[in-house]
Amino acid sequence: MKIQYQVEKNICDVDGCKEIAYGKCMRCGTDICLTHQPIVGKNYRHSATLRGGEDGYFCNACISKLISDPNEPLREIHEAYLGLDRLIKKINEINKEYDVLIKHAEESIQKLWKKTKNIREMY
Ligand SMILES: [Zn+2]
Ligand SMILES: [Zn+2]
Repeated sequence: MKIQYQVEKNICDVDGCKEIAYGKCMRCGTDICLTHQPIVGKNYRHSATLRGGEDGYFCNACISKLISDPNEPLREIHEAYLGLDRLIKKINEINKEYDVLIKHAEESIQKLWKKTKNIREMY
């Protein structure tokens, strides 16, 4: 069965873009498509391990205002998003450092496993 019905969709507000918008700035309501989201603003995660409905998106113009104006009503939640963002970056750096250390440790064991073959075979 075929039916026709009207669907309301938000379109990206970036000049010349007619893509469907899947996000909007939490401060000014500008609609942004997936392609333009990382270009004209920033998506903030609400969780280090999950993505979801409490993630936040702000356009760059609003981020500037949130950072510079202490009276912005959304300043506190933006700072909380920034805080989690910094922690996620830090844990990713630490994980990379540990990946290198673990690789060295594993390689040492592999070398020593071969090197100690004669000793191990004595028992
Ligand atoms: Zn905005
Ligand atoms: Zn767009």
